[in-house]
Amino acid sequence: MSNQGKLVLENYIGGKFLPCKKHIDSFNPSIGEVYCRVPDSGAEEVEAAVTAAKEAFPSWSAKSPAERAQVLNKLADLLEARLEEFAQAESKDQGKTITAARNVDIPRAVYNFRYFASSILYHTTECSQMDHMGCVNYTIRCPVGVAGLISPWNLPLYLLTWKIAPAVALGNTVVAKPSEMTSVTAWMMCQLLEEAGFPPGVVNIVFGTGPRAGDALVAHPDVPLISFTGSTSTARVITERSAPHYKKLSLELGGKNPAVVFADADLEECIRTTVRSSFSNQGEICLCTSRIFVERSIYPQFLAKFVDAARQWKTGVPSDPSNNNGALVSKEHLEKVRGYVFLARAEGAQVHCGEGVDTLNLPPQNVGGYFMLPTVITEVKDSSRVMQEEIFGPVTCLTPFEKEEEVIARANGVRYGLAASVWSRDVGRVHRVAKQLQAGMVWTNCWMIRDLNLPFGGMKCSGIGREGGKDSYHFFTEVKSITVKH
Ligand code: NAD
Repeated sequence: MSNQGKLVLENYIGGKFLPCKKHIDSFNPSIGEVYCRVPDSGAEEVEAAVTAAKEAFPSWSAKSPAERAQVLNKLADLLEARLEEFAQAESKDQGKTITAARNVDIPRAVYNFRYFASSILYHTTECSQMDHMGCVNYTIRCPVGVAGLISPWNLPLYLLTWKIAPAVALGNTVVAKPSEMTSVTAWMMCQLLEEAGFPPGVVNIVFGTGPRAGDALVAHPDVPLISFTGSTSTARVITERSAPHYKKLSLELGGKNPAVVFADADLEECIRTTVRSSFSNQGEICLCTSRIFVERSIYPQFLAKFVDAARQWKTGVPSDPSNNNGALVSKEHLEKVRGYVFLARAEGAQVHCGEGVDTLNLPPQNVGGYFMLPTVITEVKDSSRVMQEEIFGPVTCLTPFEKEEEVIARANGVRYGLAASVWSRDVGRVHRVAKQLQAGMVWTNCWMIRDLNLPFGGMKCSGIGREGGKDSYHFFTEVKSITVKH
């Protein structure tokens, strides 16, 4: 549908597209103009979606895993056949490069459905014998019911499908709410659900803001489970709002991820990877590195090479496949990220490249876009807000360290605990340091290599619970212990 040349999205409830009375504007970040109009749903729309999901639950949950897997695999095929169309839309809506959308976001959304379609076929439950009591015990796992799924704007379809796929594969029905800033690919996916074989009401997508649509979903008494990916501050509100209903919660939140670089690291590989881990997707990945601790003996050399490499990380129009970065998601977010660079300067830090140092030349049609160059900061105290708070943009801080115990304490000295990386050729040290870092995921001599069988999630203020493989199986089902006396 179109309204004055703009795309107008509709909610997808009970297998039908339903218009909404009110809308909000969603922008194309690379030009700073309205791209589409997103439903401003509230309690009424969420109520309709929950009702549809409740009605669909008995027959969907009664299907065999193999039957459900067939539907998920068909959706994966349909998405894959339209990969380019989805990648173009994701890049336009989010600001990310077309290369990232083509090679990472949409292929991963496809893979999420394929992965859970196959992994649900192989889960086993537990069994124990108590011969002295004449008993055998076993567990069964049942779907929870209507799952409420809330996702952020940085990896829109990638993270939404990371929730929808396991939820429906395991027999739940869902009401999902993508970010109001990046809703287009979720809406496009709704157009494929019927053809894939999803019965009406199994997947419902309600678009709108957090405080209206999101809150109505979190507070709904008939939604016993919420899987949320987003900021730590929103998670707090969600935890409070869902507490009266004792909901099952999975919270995947922010990070302030350290990289720890020892003098014996493979420097070329380390610099290439830490530039990528700091700036990929404009630094808008929860796993991005934002504090780099470098052993003092190699610090000057590391810093010089890192700044050179950061300057070569190309920022520009997302549709140009030669660019590494596109635009940040919104004007407000760009201003927030820049604010941290101003703060660092005001506190006496040195800004080596990027914001306020280098100039970005953009074509005339993109001058209103929300672009920012990769920015490298040094001489900033560990206690500074710049080193403590999640910036979620193309900004990283470097600082030297002397000793292993010292760097572990400093790396752990934030409220977050999502991811970390360790660089060293000393195997013993790698294991020792990885064990002591307070993070849900530690990469050693690499970054963001993911095996979906392994737990994903953070500790401290980076989240509660884990998702992935067996963890998603556990989260999206209720376990029951059954004892049989013979
Ligand atoms: P956000 O918390 O502002 O919004 C996330 C989602 O929650 C959106 O759909 C939003 O509409 C909704 N929401 C907002 N207020 C709500 C409320 N009161 N009730 C219910 N829903 C509400 O986060 P964001 O700015 O969209 O995303 C960036 C954040 O997400 C960063 O902190 C980033 O680190 C985090 N993130 C974490 C992971 C992870 O796996 N740990 C992955 C990606 C992003």
